[in-house]
Amino acid sequence: MKRYFVAPGRVNVIGEHTDYNQGFVMPVAIDKYVLLSIERTDESVIALSSAGREPVSFREESIEKTGDWSDYLKGVFWVLKDNLGVDFGGMKIKISSSIPEGAGLSSSAALEVALILALNSVYGLKLGDKELYSFAQQAENEFVGVQCGIMDQFAAVMGKKDTAIFLDTLEMRHEYVPLELGEYTFVVFDSKVHHSLSSGNYNTRRAEANKALEILGKNSYREVSMIDLFPNRGKLGDLYYRRALHVVSENMRVLEAMKMMSNSNFENLGRILIQSHESLALDYEVTCEETDFIVDTLREIGGVSGARMIGAGFGGSVLALCEKIEMKKIVEVMKIRYKERFGIDLDSYEVRPSDGAREVDATFPL
Ligand code: ADP
Ligand code: MG
Repeated sequence: MKRYFVAPGRVNVIGEHTDYNQGFVMPVAIDKYVLLSIERTDESVIALSSAGREPVSFREESIEKTGDWSDYLKGVFWVLKDNLGVDFGGMKIKISSSIPEGAGLSSSAALEVALILALNSVYGLKLGDKELYSFAQQAENEFVGVQCGIMDQFAAVMGKKDTAIFLDTLEMRHEYVPLELGEYTFVVFDSKVHHSLSSGNYNTRRAEANKALEILGKNSYREVSMIDLFPNRGKLGDLYYRRALHVVSENMRVLEAMKMMSNSNFENLGRILIQSHESLALDYEVTCEETDFIVDTLREIGGVSGARMIGAGFGGSVLALCEKIEMKKIVEVMKIRYKERFGIDLDSYEVRPSDGAREVDATFPL
């Protein structure tokens, strides 16, 4: 029997570069999905296919990395065999997806989570939510070799319609926050630029944030408040002061954003997004000309409450909070201005806070 599972992409509304600094993040699962069908077979191979790609088959006794799209799925089989010693036998897995890849909406986590949920259900593994997202993360960290945090897999498993998830990455405590956007909507703009050396820059920021903590003589950013920062400005020096300032102020903005969401105050939520962007631009220095241009331009167009770059930075995407009735105009104007300035066709995606991974039937509309 064929069964079907979906896992959503995600967008992190606020809390950028805080996840590896023991801080807060606020992801929402979105209405873009990886749809996976699974069917057990009598053959001894696991056959993977995804629309528009070379199919891949392998035997469960010899799971090896091949450096292509199938690694994200092989990683999940590898983790389950390693941790639970599951014998899978043969199966056919087919993937289709409405999550754009590499646009900061986490198609990779959706792929892993769709598969782990499917295997959990079909093989009766009885994994709880925490095991689902932790094993999926382990697949990406240890098999694929990407050092992502827990947020992406967490959001794909735990997402809820019209809800954001406040996540404390230190204590792994989460809280659902109502986010009924009403007259507003989220739009993601993909700048389509990824400046080289970005992984190097990312590691540099991690190191700088740690160094600032060391200078402050603290073990975690959770022990640092604004009151600790100001008197230590001289000791930190300008660079480490600004790095720490971003982390501490961004955590405060996450808490503030949570209140604004609960009160459906979307004008103020937009302002917080702008402040976050400015902090990422000026203090953490992870934006670039293209993402700054998108945010600056959006601020000039009526109907935008706020916008900020999302993801690691040095390119990538911008999240905007817009009035629904103005959205079409905003997207049109933004595309024209971006093309004029950089000669690049900007991609945009409207995204809505949606439910997490689940089993669906064959008629699920992608
Ligand atoms: P993202 O921000 O979208 O997660 P990543 O680089 O982490 O970007 O993951 C993108 C990779 O995930 C793709 O290069 C591809 O290997 C894999 N992937 C995503 N979607 C699909 C799909 N529909 N089918 C096959 N592989 C996919
Ligand atoms: Mg990814």
